[in-house]
Amino acid sequence: MFAALTGGARRQIRRIQIGLLVARLRALLWSSLRAVAADARFCPVCGRSSPFFRPFGVVPRPDAQCIHCRALERHRLLWVFVSIRTDLFDGSPKRMLHVAPERCLEARFRERLDGSYVTADLLNSRAMVKVDVTDIQFPDESFDVIYCSHVLEHVVDDRKAMREFHRVLKTGGWAILLVPITVERTYEDPSIVDRQARLQAFGQEDHVRRYGVDYVDRLRDAGFSVQTIKASEFIRGDQLVQMGLMFASDEIFYCTKPPANDPRRFERV
Ligand SMILES: [Zn+2]
Repeated sequence: MFAALTGGARRQIRRIQIGLLVARLRALLWSSLRAVAADARFCPVCGRSSPFFRPFGVVPRPDAQCIHCRALERHRLLWVFVSIRTDLFDGSPKRMLHVAPERCLEARFRERLDGSYVTADLLNSRAMVKVDVTDIQFPDESFDVIYCSHVLEHVVDDRKAMREFHRVLKTGGWAILLVPITVERTYEDPSIVDRQARLQAFGQEDHVRRYGVDYVDRLRDAGFSVQTIKASEFIRGDQLVQMGLMFASDEIFYCTKPPANDPRRFERV
């Protein structure tokens, strides 16, 4: 058929064929990219995929907040940890204290633990009980599990709060007490009380210190055995990317309460 066409017409047809091919390839590429992007991120807290996590923070961190349940990096990390590295969901009854309950996690804990789950907060009326962490109203050995995240950096007498957590935790129980670690050595100055001065000194208007890597020593002083566990120790590299945890600096501080005469009490892991 081409033989009957002039050279100009043949070139025209070739241009059209090439144009169609390019358009088809482009459509294929875009649909592949869309397919990858649609589930580029996965949030283990709500179990949903999304094309991205939103930036979040005073200085916005990229890849931070789930667009569905608003879970941040530390919430996703915590959820994976308690799901695969603890006995929390093994079906045996456990009483859990969740201090300053984050909405995204509270819903999931409540769903899985039902009546043995207690939320507590000093100011938030949404919590089940009002609790001052430096003077907890529960008797000794009340809880199998305690979870308290990003609270102690707001508490003036954090050592007392740690001792209180240790007191109300059952022997053999475990607690995850998370704080932001932002410096090498813990820095605090009780004379700094002005909000603006606290922002300057501690990075946030309502923080009373910056914690360093010596945070674990305070937990040990309160009587806990402490393991510091990084995300990469229990999550594969590709899953770290998918869950937006590649650049999250948070670590899990896994505190246990061995019997008072147990040598593990003084063990440094
Ligand atoms: Zn989510």
